[in-house]
Amino acid sequence: MNITILGCYAATPRTFTNPTSQVIEIRNRLFLIDCGEGTQVQLRKNKIKFSKINQVFISHLHGDHFFGLIGLISTFALLNRTTDLHIYGPKGIKEIIHLQLRLANSWTKYGLFFHELESHESEVIYEDDKVIVKTIPLNHRVYTNGFLFQEKIRKRKLNIDAVQNYEIEKCFYQNIKNGKDISLGDGRVVENHKLTFDPVPPLSYAFCSDTAYDESIIPYIKEIDVLYHESTFLDSEEALAGKTMHSTAKEAATIALKAKVKQLILGHYSTRYDSISQFKEQAETIFPNVLLADDGKSFEF
Ligand SMILES: [Zn+2]
Ligand SMILES: [Zn+2]
Repeated sequence: MNITILGCYAATPRTFTNPTSQVIEIRNRLFLIDCGEGTQVQLRKNKIKFSKINQVFISHLHGDHFFGLIGLISTFALLNRTTDLHIYGPKGIKEIIHLQLRLANSWTKYGLFFHELESHESEVIYEDDKVIVKTIPLNHRVYTNGFLFQEKIRKRKLNIDAVQNYEIEKCFYQNIKNGKDISLGDGRVVENHKLTFDPVPPLSYAFCSDTAYDESIIPYIKEIDVLYHESTFLDSEEALAGKTMHSTAKEAATIALKAKVKQLILGHYSTRYDSISQFKEQAETIFPNVLLADDGKSFEF
């Protein structure tokens, strides 16, 4: 699993920082999460093959999370994209994009599909044979979802020495990887765990931005591998965080601690701060495994 941060600052684009967008690569699939202004340029700068993006997940309709979307959609059209593009986001997103396409008389030739979200409960919004994506209802000034990406459990690994010891023919290998026991010619049954190794444990990643401190998300992110949680403010702006329905670094760390996640990544920093190092320092007073997102940074798990 690889996460590339294209932008992780709040509010406005600046010379060297970008609003929210990130690409997550899982099992050879490329998903785009949020699409702030400048996302296309960041995709190019980070050499991401963006024709491979077929799903875009938009957390909410504040500009710093989706103002780049119409640009990306229209660039795909200019590049003669033919593959379908699926957009998952709050109800209303289709109306906004369609209005722009209609008034510019610039309909796409590729299939553009909107999956509008309005539930306040977690729901499965995407699933294939390797990955499942669920919403995480967040608590912000407008309707907002985080997204949980979970790898599906991989097949068991064949223990070649064991299958050869039992002289099992190759045509049974697929069944063994699928978890089946095997009956030998003499009537003996060999249990699957004697013929296989446990698969690599599936990874999980949650994107939670933007949100006020809210413990109701904990059940959805319990013991996951990696949590990206917004931390717009430092402790000194705790009251402002409450008022604007954002979180501080310490609040993000408290959620990580209570949810027992393995790794916390902080992002969505307010542009009022000259340096982001204090976010890590303050979060680490509560939770030990803290990484700082920054534009152009990649994380491999
Ligand atoms: Zn934001
Ligand atoms: Zn917002």
